[in-house]
Amino acid sequence: MSELRDLLADAAARVADYRESVADVPVFPDDTSGVREKLGDLPETPVPPADVIRRLADAVEPALVGSTGPRYFGFVTGGALDAATAADMLATGWDQPAFNKVTSPAAAIVEEVAGEWLKDVLGLPSGASFGFVTGGQGANTVGLAAARHHVLAQAGWDVERRGLHGAPPLRVVANVERHATIDRSLRLLGLGTDAVRPVRADDQGAIDIADLEKALDGPAIVCLQAGNVNTGAFDDFAAATEIAHRHGAWVHVDGAFGLWAAAAPALRRLTAGLETADSWAVDGHKWLNVPYDSGYAFCAHPESHIAAMSLTAAYLTGQGDGGVRAPSDFVPESSRRARGFATWAALSELGRTGIAEMIERCCALARRFAGKLDACDGVTVVNDVVLNQVLVDFGDDTERVVEAVQRSGECWMGATTWRGRRLMRISVSNWSTTEADVDRAVEAIKAARETTKRKN
Ligand SMILES: *Cc1c(COP(=O)(O)O)cnc(C)c1O
Repeated sequence: MSELRDLLADAAARVADYRESVADVPVFPDDTSGVREKLGDLPETPVPPADVIRRLADAVEPALVGSTGPRYFGFVTGGALDAATAADMLATGWDQPAFNKVTSPAAAIVEEVAGEWLKDVLGLPSGASFGFVTGGQGANTVGLAAARHHVLAQAGWDVERRGLHGAPPLRVVANVERHATIDRSLRLLGLGTDAVRPVRADDQGAIDIADLEKALDGPAIVCLQAGNVNTGAFDDFAAATEIAHRHGAWVHVDGAFGLWAAAAPALRRLTAGLETADSWAVDGHKWLNVPYDSGYAFCAHPESHIAAMSLTAAYLTGQGDGGVRAPSDFVPESSRRARGFATWAALSELGRTGIAEMIERCCALARRFAGKLDACDGVTVVNDVVLNQVLVDFGDDTERVVEAVQRSGECWMGATTWRGRRLMRISVSNWSTTEADVDRAVEAIKAARETTKRKN
């Protein structure tokens, strides 16, 4: 075998070894202190590739977090499906700049196909435009940029040409419990966080429809949520969109993980009316279990999407010659990774029924968590477990229980603050998690509680 073949085969074998062992080793590394030293100093002269890779993998493997494994329940973190992982390795090896059909017809065509499939699976309008971005943050930024263009154009202002100096005021109406990335997108877009008119949330964290109506007056973007990051709650899209559109506002939906409920027949009712919104943000790397980095921005008004994003000018159509869409006209980057390959592979690997089954299974496992924990004395599940998110209250011990669970290496979940309470937040978003994994995690939580009690 050539040296290149050995190098790549060794790297692939290390990936396979890692993934095959990830369920059996501590979920969080216990000692990451040696990493810097093992990485060494900048070499003065070239190093053979095989030595570079050995040094890198030996140095960092002890510090890897098993977030791609079945007992990582922190944040909202997906694993990576097998075909999607392999496709992402191919994307790296092929090294295609997914700029347009000239730099890579392969990347442009695969993105076009995968984007159409995503709209189909998520029940979004077939005419919607889409961009493959880095994640939910990128997708929110693109959706809000299209919104900014559209609403200001209606008010007679060309924001791409004139900027925001002297522009009509643009209000952003959003749930007080919106995700923090919305605020960063508003900062990046020059709208600023003072533009936000916060709307009350109901007892589960969904937007209060009556309060929403009161906040609307003049040009506005309404930000809705499919999946509150703490509770998993869904806004009432049908009602909220009807009100927003009556006031001439644009409706953007942050559906980073929750939008996937639309792909599962048993959960689809949560997203009723979703298709009436104007833009949508969703992650690939969370619940679709595509490797990081992968997110999608969709827009019901392709011309506004392109006006906000295209590289050269607002009058571009986003169609390269030959009718192949130019990926870079829908995202903020010009040269970029060919993100379509991994998404196409994930969608192909699961198929329509496999996606639905994975989403429904994660929700069933979240309910299993909730049932088992709520049955323990002194432990309360505080949210309605409508999706894959579970918030657990251990009274005054919550912080210590979370820390003890994390130290156990058995599983990993984080703490969050919701409505002024410190809570354990469990998110089930990984394709490979089983009932046995949940049961093992529950035992680890119970053991952590015992340890905590003994120390008190
Ligand atoms: C995770 C998340 C985001 C941000 O997504 P990234 O992929 O981390 O950029 C935005 N909104 C919600 C509701 C999320 O859960």
